[in-house]
Amino acid sequence: MIAFDYHAPESLQEAVRLLDQFAGTARVVAGGTDLMVTCRLRGLGPQHVISLRRVENLDVVRRDEATGRVRIGAFATLRQIERSPLLRERCAGLVEAAHKVGSIPVRNLATIGGNLCNASPSAETAPPLLAAAATVTLTGPGGQRAIPLEQFFLGPGKTALQPNEVLTEVSLLADGAGAASMYERQCIRRFKDIALVGVGARLALDGAGRCQAVGLALGAVAPTPLPVPAAADLLLGQQLSDARIAEVAAAARAAAKPITDIRASAEYRSAMVEVLTIRVLRALREALRN
Ligand SMILES: Cc1cc2nc3c(=O)[nH]c(=O)nc-3n(C[C@H](O)[C@H](O)[C@H](O)COP(=O)(O)OP(=O)(O)OC[C@H]3O[C@@H](n4cnc5c(N)ncnc54)[C@H](O)[C@@H]3O)c2cc1C
Repeated sequence: MIAFDYHAPESLQEAVRLLDQFAGTARVVAGGTDLMVTCRLRGLGPQHVISLRRVENLDVVRRDEATGRVRIGAFATLRQIERSPLLRERCAGLVEAAHKVGSIPVRNLATIGGNLCNASPSAETAPPLLAAAATVTLTGPGGQRAIPLEQFFLGPGKTALQPNEVLTEVSLLADGAGAASMYERQCIRRFKDIALVGVGARLALDGAGRCQAVGLALGAVAPTPLPVPAAADLLLGQQLSDARIAEVAAAARAAAKPITDIRASAEYRSAMVEVLTIRVLRALREALRN
């Protein structure tokens, strides 16, 4: 294990000040389920580790009454997310994604902020968040900025975070009133495995059953989690017929840029994008009919 100085600030301002002071040699730690693995396996380690554990109110989950969106503090754990009554009712896709990560002990530590900042192409929470038009709030010495989540991911392990910034909040569209969301993934083992392909979708229907708003995003088939708006837009103003769903799934497959690696071939991943997109959209159609 690499030696480092451990800091446990009690406020966000202090965390940001430390990050700024040690910029380039410091990393934030939330649950540590990714960071500690990186330090151990790859022998890479920051000189300063700044824990968010003592910072208050970074794990708050709430509905923003003014916008109707749901806001989740970056330090909220995946276990907290899967158990939250508000999120189970309003953000079903995100809840499913959180539930699929690792095991309960991992999810008790792993945070939503860590899942996004680790910037794995297969990050489980990313597709449902992208499908729900999520934004992220980044806090640095100069204050806060909010950006769409799709601008946050720059490449494997790379994000738009500056070295002195902390991801503090995620905001997303809520389910309800004709809108629903879902996440499905394919992996080699059913549990404790990362996704070979993930598909997140959110649909909002009007009174006549036509799609008013559509979000669709893929995981593990590109260098970053991948929104596929051109595929999603094929549904706008349309009924959710099997034929239209198949068209959308083919477009999603065409937009994916998977690679072949030890887990699966690019061809298999492409085929699974189509299969899972059909599965998710049909399931959402059923959910919205009931
Ligand atoms: C056994 C096991 C199974 C797993 N299975 C899955 C899986 O199926 N799917 C999946 O997606 N992941 C999986 N993971 C990976 C991991 O658990 C998640 O990515 C987790 O959500 C990371 O959160 P964390 O709080 O532990 O992050 P940490 O390890 O604390 O941090 C990860 C990275 O993000 C940075 N960071 C964390 N929080 C912030 C913040 N608020 N602001 C700025 N930077 C920050 C850290 O500096 C670090 O670079 C698994 C891990 C293990 C150990």
